[in-house]
Amino acid sequence: MSECVIWTGPRQGGYGAVWNGRTWKRAHRLAWEKEHGPIPAGMTIDHLCCVKLCVNTDHMEVVTRAENTRRQVRTAERNARHAAFMRDWWRRHPEARAAFKERMAHG
Ligand SMILES: [Zn+2]
Repeated sequence: MSECVIWTGPRQGGYGAVWNGRTWKRAHRLAWEKEHGPIPAGMTIDHLCCVKLCVNTDHMEVVTRAENTRRQVRTAERNARHAAFMRDWWRRHPEARAAFKERMAHG
């Protein structure tokens, strides 16, 4: 996959934003529409790279809102599983915990 193109302008809700004189538009949506035309009703843009500020249209996919929500739920579940795994890992590795504390204490 190509590199992310990070939006450096204003931001709204974690996304790049463009003021069109009346309202804030999401920069990644404008970028996609410039290339492919208007986003169909009921559809939303999903970042395949999961970088909200990315305006590289190669990293975007038009999905239904339902699909996007499903993906977000999946990501949240994955994150929760990972957090639980890490908590468990730290519990089972007291020596790593001690080394980490040591590093923190001494920079
Ligand atoms: Zn990207």
